[in-house]
Amino acid sequence: MNVKLLVKREVAVLEAYQAREIPCSVKLDANESPYGFHRALGAVSALQTNRYPDPEAKKLRTVLARHLGVKVENILQGNGSDEIIYHLITTFGGPVLYPVPTFSMYGIIGQILGEKTVAVPLDRNFDLHMGRMTAAIRKKRPQIVFLSTPNNPTGNCFSPDRVLKIVATSPGIVVIDEAYQPFAREKGFMPLLNDYQNLVIMRTLSKIGLAALRFGFLVADEKIVHEVNKVRLPFNVNALSQAVAVKVLRGGKALGTVVQKIAAERDLLMRAMMDIRSITTFPSEANFILFRVADPNGIHAELLRRGILIRNVSDAVDGCLRVTVGTSRENRKFLQALRSCVGKSS
Ligand code: PMP
Repeated sequence: MNVKLLVKREVAVLEAYQAREIPCSVKLDANESPYGFHRALGAVSALQTNRYPDPEAKKLRTVLARHLGVKVENILQGNGSDEIIYHLITTFGGPVLYPVPTFSMYGIIGQILGEKTVAVPLDRNFDLHMGRMTAAIRKKRPQIVFLSTPNNPTGNCFSPDRVLKIVATSPGIVVIDEAYQPFAREKGFMPLLNDYQNLVIMRTLSKIGLAALRFGFLVADEKIVHEVNKVRLPFNVNALSQAVAVKVLRGGKALGTVVQKIAAERDLLMRAMMDIRSITTFPSEANFILFRVADPNGIHAELLRRGILIRNVSDAVDGCLRVTVGTSRENRKFLQALRSCVGKSS
């Protein structure tokens, strides 16, 4: 039997997503936080392993609602925000439109679900190109637009007036992916939720020290939450993750302190990278920095040879690499290695 012939066409043409574990001593490739909340793992000892988790994740949604100043009914839980993207596209269908370069899962999940995807190039400053965006929206009438701000892998926020114009003029849902918003100087779009019925905000705990839990969520009008909730599988967020996330979120200032520390380290790292003359460093509002080098493949490999793993994004952004902000010690090691690698290649 030829299994491939039985597979749906849109799946047969895909390659599985490669999230390989590459051995290294300094891991700065995946936009994780260098700081964990390991003590909160104690919260799982009170769980009963024979019982299903709370299917509605009520405690966790309640504590999030309080943090964000929204109602519990406005929040929908996901097994990471990847799953939220899946649920949104399953619910609303395509065309799915997004600027590029951006987070790859909007396009990948759109394809998996057999929907039409529309990629619209950003402008030279990695901001939304309004001419191209409005033309594409008018022509393709997307059911969903995804805007990651701060954007991965470029690191910048899109101009808020451009984002709002797209929200106001799109015929369908506009999802603002705020995975990196905690690290940004601007406040984000949460306060505007009541003004736009087609606005969905996506957040995740992955970048702020809880990537292991796989917890992401959307915040939107109750009517949107009601529809998307129909495609969510009953127990999508496991009991261990719910318990640990509640414990950390109730833990007072610790989360905020860690985020501030990472943003401060980012600014230090940025200044040091800007002093390296043979590379171009792009401004960042996130927990990572994009930079351009003469030989991205060579520098990436040479850093890895020295035990430092960063992300080669040169397929998406010409000549570019992306480094996640680590501890000050990790950042120093990275800088030292980078200076010596680019010195060698120039
Ligand atoms: N959105 C963006 C912009 C991201 O960069 C990522 C992770 N790389 C995600 C969403 C997915 O995050 P999660 O771990 O919550 O699935």
